[in-house]
Amino acid sequence: MVFEILTLFPDYVDNILNESILGRARQKGLIEVKVRNIRDYSLDKHRRVDDTPCGGGMGMLMACQPIYDCHRAAMAEYEGKRVRTVFLSAQGQPFKQKKAAQLAADYDVLILLCGHYEGVDRRVIELCCDEEISIGDFVLTGGELPACLVVDAVARLIDGVLSDKECHEKESFSAALLEEPQYTRPIEFMGKKVPDVLLSGDHEKIRQWRHKAALELTGQNRPDLL
Ligand code: SAM
Repeated sequence: MVFEILTLFPDYVDNILNESILGRARQKGLIEVKVRNIRDYSLDKHRRVDDTPCGGGMGMLMACQPIYDCHRAAMAEYEGKRVRTVFLSAQGQPFKQKKAAQLAADYDVLILLCGHYEGVDRRVIELCCDEEISIGDFVLTGGELPACLVVDAVARLIDGVLSDKECHEKESFSAALLEEPQYTRPIEFMGKKVPDVLLSGDHEKIRQWRHKAALELTGQNRPDLL
């Protein structure tokens, strides 16, 4: 799968997505991450990309032309592919695991438009984007972190990115419950012990314990999921 990120801060995004599991997936060619600098497409002689809001108000808005041309350049590379363009926005639909799974399954290319400053001229969102996604009910300075978050959640569902398919099939939100608490060695740390059942070797008992623990944790932290 290809992830195209349209941003004013390409290094910011590229650095985050070059680390750890995603960095390895990129090296192996399991995913491709392309970062496009919107400023490179500005026709302004000073390479400006923003302007003041019509009707007045605080701050600056990202203007239509550089984004429109940047998006067109990206689209031109993917004729015949299943492409989805997403605008990261505090006003978008809440991002959920189900959406990550749908994006991973249904598209070859995900184009992620990152806003900045006070936001983006509405017309270019309407012209270029298929949907708006929010990563939560809070406001960030830019869409770069949200874009990285979406890339991470989608990419790890692509075959081969995680070493073991089990890893995501049993995780929080893949089933209706949150994942149960997990433990590793040492068996005792600062007086706190790993639950005995996990050391029993009895797989049925472990399965039952995990299910009960997942139910308890979900009831405690996310009763809305039950
Ligand atoms: N004026 C906008 C509002 O009230 O919704 C906030 C603009 S924010 C300072 C700048 C950019 O950050 C947005 O255009 C968007 O791309 C991104 N952003 C901020 N919060 C976000 C969130 N919760 N989810 C996704 N993107 C977000």
